[in-house]
Amino acid sequence: MDECISFYWDILSRDSGARGATINFIRKPAVVRCRNCGKEFRLKQEEWQCPGCGHWDVEIISGKEFYIDSIEVE
Ligand SMILES: [Zn+2]
Repeated sequence: MDECISFYWDILSRDSGARGATINFIRKPAVVRCRNCGKEFRLKQEEWQCPGCGHWDVEIISGKEFYIDSIEVE
């Protein structure tokens, strides 16, 4: 949760050189692939069922990354 990371960031950075720094979040949608029919689709909420064949056996192929775009240090 963005709010949890921001909350703990404020505490952890308080006595460090990163004091006053802010974190910005960009959420990427998870893309999954059905292991049964190969269909790829964006994950909405908790809907893990393949819209193509109805199977539940899917794997996440995109959206698991954690990417830091930039850090500014004075
Ligand atoms: Zn499928």
